[in-house]
Amino acid sequence: SKLWQARFYKTVNHLRDLPKLDVPEVAFVGRSNAGKSSAINTLCNQKSLAFASKTPGRTQHINFFSIGGAHVGQHRHDPVRESEIDMFLVDLPGYGFAQVSGSAKEHWQKLLSDYLIHRQQLTGLVLVMDARHPFQPLDVQLLEWFAVTGKPVHCLLTKADKLNRSESTNALKQVDTILKSYVDEEGNPFPFTAQLFSSTKRIGIKEATDTILQLAGG
Ligand code: GDP
Repeated sequence: SKLWQARFYKTVNHLRDLPKLDVPEVAFVGRSNAGKSSAINTLCNQKSLAFASKTPGRTQHINFFSIGGAHVGQHRHDPVRESEIDMFLVDLPGYGFAQVSGSAKEHWQKLLSDYLIHRQQLTGLVLVMDARHPFQPLDVQLLEWFAVTGKPVHCLLTKADKLNRSESTNALKQVDTILKSYVDEEGNPFPFTAQLFSSTKRIGIKEATDTILQLAGG
């Protein structure tokens, strides 16, 4: 798929460093350990693209992966031509672990919320949740924050391989019901969708890929 073109573009620690390009961004967010890195790697058909974001020092940053664009040089690590980039996949810092404290935590919470609420290029959000326990308090908080933008959210219910058929059907039904319960002041539902996903058993890859490309407007 087109997502296989993904390559590391940059790490951002301040809003002023966000890419200047005016191309759609689809961002991945989720609790630490939900399977976000695995999902990005699987969707991009690469072994360690998103694990790079897990190296110490990069975990609280926003990592950008470009889609599209030929290499300027002949090597894999050469930069791509910026004018040819079609979209970015954006790996947002995982949340829910207490390992960061104090000012570092405040810094990334602000970075995350500012990005989610104010970033014009952001066209859709992928909310990664473990299918066995979706909608933990921080997931709900994040969804409610983001709802004010009116932009679409697609929930990836990961590790679906850990559930049997009826369990996973039920999990998806419950999530759909919760998502439908979010309505605006006029009673209209928000553009929230969900699907089952597994990196290890390769469940839901086409659906996720198609949805992500759709979120980017293509
Ligand atoms: P992140 O912190 O959200 O980026 O999560 P990771 O992608 O690093 O995954 C956290 C743990 O869950 C790792 O031990 C993965 O091997 C495991 N994991 C991720 N995706 C799946 C999946 O689809 N199925 C199963 N069974 N385990 C998974």
